Order: sequence, then C-alpha cells, then structure tokens
Amino acid sequence: MPSETEYILGIEGISARYGGGALALSDVSLRVAKGGIVALLGLNGAGKTTTLRVASGVMRPSSGHVDFDGQRIDGRSPAAIVRRGVAHSPEGRHVFPDMSVRENLELGAYTVRDRAVRRNRLESTLEVFPRLHDRLRQRAGTLSGGEQQMLAIGRALMSDPKLLLLDEPMLGLSPAMSRVVAETVTRIREAGMSILLVEQNMELALSVADWVYFLEAGRVVGDSDAARVRAQEGRSVYMSARS
Ligand code: ATP
Repeated sequence: MPSETEYILGIEGISARYGGGALALSDVSLRVAKGGIVALLGLNGAGKTTTLRVASGVMRPSSGHVDFDGQRIDGRSPAAIVRRGVAHSPEGRHVFPDMSVRENLELGAYTVRDRAVRRNRLESTLEVFPRLHDRLRQRAGTLSGGEQQMLAIGRALMSDPKLLLLDEPMLGLSPAMSRVVAETVTRIREAGMSILLVEQNMELALSVADWVYFLEAGRVVGDSDAARVRAQEGRSVYMSARS
C-alpha cells in the first residue's frame, strides 16, 4: 500500500501456534487502511482465521505485535480490545438460537451500561440490516442462513467498532444472499468503519475489497491492489505473487 496511507490496524511479524503444534502463522505482516476493506485470501488451513483471532485478542501471538489505532493491543484481553473498537464476527454465524433477534443484538453491546446508547446502536444497526427490523422478536434459530449471518454481523456492529473482523460472512449462502452480504459490507464501510475480511469466495471478496493479501501455509505470499487482481484475473496474480 502507498506509504502515506493512514492505517487503523498493523499486524507486524506475527507468529502463532495452537498448543504445542506446528506454527499456524509465521512472520505474518499486514495492514488495514483507515476506512479500507482488506481481504485475506487463501486455501483451507492457510491461517486466515488464526490471523483474525490474533487481531481480536482471542489468541496470543508467540512473536510480533498488533497495533490498533496507534496503540499496541496484543496481550490485551478480547474484552479490552472490543472496548478499543475492534469487533470480531467469527466463522459459522454463532447466533444464540433460542434467544430473540433483539436479545442476540443486545449481547453485542454488553459492555455498554447506558440504555439510551444501546438503543441508538440498535437503531443504527437496524438501518444497516432493515431485514432484521421486522424480525426483532423472532427466535434467532428460525432465521434463514443469510439472516443469521446478518444477525451475527449486526451483533458485532452493536459494539460500535472502528474495525470489523469478518470471518467468511458468505459461507454457505446462496449467490443472491452472498451479494446482499457483500453490499452490506460496502455500506458498513460507508458508515465509517474499516474491515478485515476473510473469504473463500475470491470473486466476491475482490468485488468489495481495496487491497488483498494472499496467505499460504501460515505465511503472506503476496499482496496487491484488489482492482489490479480483478483486472488480471485472480489466479494469475496469485501465482505471480508467489513467485
Ligand atoms: P479455513 O479456510 O479452512 O477456515 P484458515 O485459513 O482460516 O482455514 P486456520 O483456521 O487459521 O486456517 O488454521 C491454520 C492452521 O492452524 C491449520 O493448520 C489448522 O489445522 C491449525 N488450527 C486451527 N485451529 C486449531 C486449533 N484449535 N487447534 C490446533 N490447530 C488448529
């Protein structure tokens, strides 16, 4: 990325492993520009989810550091990182099926005591997801797959983040619903947030991202302007990024 760009997230030289296993990430560095959408692309097991876990504090790196909005955040608790403005919408939707849509959303603002602030957040989240508005009292488990995905993202928005970490938001959705989610990601950015997106669907990821990083076996093997990848067809640039 151009050097004059201002960054909201900087992951610098991160290595991480699960238990005593092999390194899941080796010396990973990436940046998200303020107001930008960055996509992390790679095959299964490349380390995409692990990178988001490190950014949200769910997983501690064994080396390297994570800087968010001018401050170092690695080593801080996930709750402290949420309070600073990072929200993580993990893979697999994770809605609470027996709770209502409204209750699920309110969980995303659990750190906020002020009821008026919580109400405002609910209103602005419902502006992003008008589809959830009519379903506030519906049990979350009865929503369609796409609606559950919107609810999971909506819950993350309830913490009023500066940066949203989205793990495979289009996984298992129909092409039409995937496009709705992609449009939503663009609208969230228009509302002033920055986004780090993990997505297997390269075409959709490229349609929303400004910048892409390619991960392979826990390493960054290339990065590029998303428009350039779009223009040159993803795979050939992916291959050239590796060579
Ligand atoms: P996918 O697209 O399949 O979700 P990914 O790129 O998100 O893959 P990660 O989930 O970050 O990949 O996994 C990176 C590596 O870490 C893999 O080798 C995986 O087997 C390993 N790994 C992930 N989670 C755990 C865990 N809880 N315990 C042990 N190893 C894990």
